[in-house]
Order: sequence, then C-alpha cells, then structure tokens
Amino acid sequence: MLSYWEKKHFVDYDLIVIGGGIVGLSTSIQYKTKFPLSKVLVLERGIFPSGASSRNAGFACFGSLTEILDDLNTLSESEVLQLVEKRYRGLLAIREFFGDDRLGYLPTCGLELLTENEIGALKFLDKINHLLAPVFPEGVFEQIEDISAFGFSDKVKAVIKNKFEGELDSGKFLMSLWEKSQELNIKILTGSQVSKIEIEEKKVHVRNPTGKDEIAFFANKIAVCTNAFTNLLIPGLDIQPGRGLVMVTKPISKEIPFSGTFHYDKGYVYFRKVEDRILLGGGRNMDFEGEKTLSMEVNPKIREYLLHILNNIILPDCDIEIDLEWTGIMAFGKNKKPIVEMVENNIGLAVRLGGMGVAIGWQTAEELVNMLSEV
Ligand SMILES: Cc1cc2nc3c(=O)[nH]c(=O)nc-3n(C[C@H](O)[C@H](O)[C@H](O)COP(=O)(O)OP(=O)(O)OC[C@H]3O[C@@H](n4cnc5c(N)ncnc54)[C@H](O)[C@@H]3O)c2cc1C
Repeated sequence: MLSYWEKKHFVDYDLIVIGGGIVGLSTSIQYKTKFPLSKVLVLERGIFPSGASSRNAGFACFGSLTEILDDLNTLSESEVLQLVEKRYRGLLAIREFFGDDRLGYLPTCGLELLTENEIGALKFLDKINHLLAPVFPEGVFEQIEDISAFGFSDKVKAVIKNKFEGELDSGKFLMSLWEKSQELNIKILTGSQVSKIEIEEKKVHVRNPTGKDEIAFFANKIAVCTNAFTNLLIPGLDIQPGRGLVMVTKPISKEIPFSGTFHYDKGYVYFRKVEDRILLGGGRNMDFEGEKTLSMEVNPKIREYLLHILNNIILPDCDIEIDLEWTGIMAFGKNKKPIVEMVENNIGLAVRLGGMGVAIGWQTAEELVNMLSEV
C-alpha cells in the first residue's frame, strides 16, 4: 500500500538497473551521462553490493602467461588477443575516467610464479609476446633473472613479470562509482531485492521489509546486472556460479619482501601485499563442483590449500595468522565472454563477468548502454 506521495514521486523511472555491483553502477552512470534528464534507479539487494564487486582481490590484470596458454586450449589466437585487449583497454578506461588516486590504483606490475609443474610455460614466452604484439609491441612478459629477493620457497623456479598490470583498492573503486552516481543524481536503493520482473508491464517487484505487500517500480527500460544471480530472475541463461575465497593475514612483523600482483597455478591462486599484510585468494580449481554455488560459505578444502601455499611457498619460515576471510560469487559460462544482450524490447542484461569484472565491467556496461539507447 503506497501513499499518494510515494506513488507520485518514488516508483516511476526511465531506467531501472537491477544489481548495484560494478556493472550495474557503471551502467547507470553511463546511461545518465548520455541522457542527463532521465530518471535512473539502481536496486541492490544487499546493504552493500553483495555479489563479487566488493569482495574481489582488486587485481587490475589481463591474464598471466600460464592463464593465456590455458586459454589457447579453448580459444583461437585471435580470440585470446581480443580478450586480453578488452581487459587492458577496460583498465585504461576506468583509470582515465576516475583517475588513479580515486581507484587506489598502483602500477606495481603483475608477476607469476612458476614451479616445476609450470616451468614448461617458459618456452612459450616469446610466442605469447609475439601473439600480443598488436597491443603491446614492446612485449608483455619477461623472466626476472634473480628471484632470490622475493624470499619465496625454493619450489619457485622462475618468476615472470608483466609491467602493464597493477592493483587497485576495490572499496575505493565502488566508492568512486557511488560518488559519481550521487553527483549525477542517480537514486540507489540498497536492501531492495527484486523478486520478479514483469516484462510486458515494465514492472519490477521488490520485497518490502516493512510491509507484507511487495513494492512495484515501473520503468521504460530495465537493465539486469545481477551477474551470478541472474537465473533467479531470468532462467535459462548459460551462467554457472563460481565462488571465490579471499583471506587477509594479520599485520606481518617482518618486512614483506615483494610488491605487485602475483599469480600462481594458471591464475587460480593470487596474492598481493596490502599495507603490511598479505591478501591471498583463489583455489577454486581444488573443488570446481563444490564451488558452483550461490552460498557464501568457506570451503575448508580450499582454505587449507591456500594456507599451505602461503606457509610453504609464499612466506616460508614466517609466523602468519589470518585476520579476515570472505567469499564472493563470480559467474562463468561455456566461454569467457560476458552476456550482453536485449532479452525483450525494453530489457537488457550485462552479466557473466567471470574473474575479470574489475577490468571489463565498465566497458561491458557501455555495451549495454549502447543497446538500451537504441530502443
Ligand atoms: C573472490 C573474488 C576475487 C576476484 N578478484 C578479481 C580481481 O582481482 N580482478 C578482477 O578483474 N575481477 C575479480 N573478480 C571478479 C569481479 O569481482 C567480478 O567480475 C565483478 O565484480 C562482477 O561485477 P558485477 O557487477 O557483474 O557483479 P556483482 O558484483 O556480483 O553484482 C551483482 C549485484 O546484483 C545484486 N543482486 C543479485 N540479485 C539481485 C536481485 N534479485 N535484486 C537486487 N539485486 C540483486 C547482488 O547483490 C550484487 O551486488 C573477483 C571475484 C571474486 C568473487
């Protein structure tokens, strides 16, 4: 039951965006910038964005050597080049729009650890540099000659550097998106879970925490940016949830002998220094099936695997305690491309960002805004 004032002012919009993660906020900002007089509403189910965007590792990356070699098993060379270019251009785009300071961006380089298992990748280094030369003529990957200063265990046989990668503060990125939304007068309602979309009626139903009736919002256009959760609203899409675990240690008393964003095991494991702590995450490949879930639990098998890597490979001979741990939910499919399409005349979606939404979220939103602009 709505009041006269609520009905008159609160429920009608030109565009409703469902999902307030990187893609949803980027969509609303770019749409409102293009159509400054439009009324734009973002509906987010969580108090904070509650999928992947506030729970990721903040790697501003586009693929390590072994990850790219792995991709070549399922994608053609030109598809791999396109994927890398898209991620790299996406990173440049957010850096240009928001500025490095507001993103907490640091150009610290990407680095990949090779153990006995991955050392064979070295012989493909020149080939991959050649493949990526249209985007990076001076070469992306180079082997670091002396790796002793990193202090890794002697299981690490080589380290590969990528000078075009960096890291950012995922919280600052979202804050920048919120601030820009506020500046543009975009309305964001959090704690607003959409339970149903009525496409014909251009109507979106939201659970009402203070009353028994749902609240219906109306919009000429609707953008669905709910990533891994999309099949709950629009069933039948090729979207598989993939949970990711991240841990942050307590401050480490000894000087951490490295900086940068580190990849290990085809990019499935990643770590970086955050102030005087280590952030470490991944390991989904230890239990692919178990991690195909929307539930934010911690998988003990993966936790144990990550701790093993931390204590035996990254910082051997060091007493380390974990301070925080959390999970986030990504979305995967048969290929690594996001789904960006109109499902009906007035409703579009931009979902399935995989493990690279930091890099391609803004651009993916731009594609959706272009589609929405044409209807
Ligand atoms: C552990 C982890 C580490 C990662 N590390 C990196 C990294 O280092 N670099 C990188 O590039 N990428 C990384 N990613 C991937 C990146 O975070 C995602 O690709 C990106 O955040 C996806 O953004 P999104 O807006 O599409 O989805 P999400 O952030 O999941 O946003 C979808 C939003 O929709 C909301 N929602 C869902 N259903 C409803 C509903 N019915 N009503 C209202 N709201 C709803 C959710 O609460 C959520 O906030 C990582 C992801 C995880 C989980």
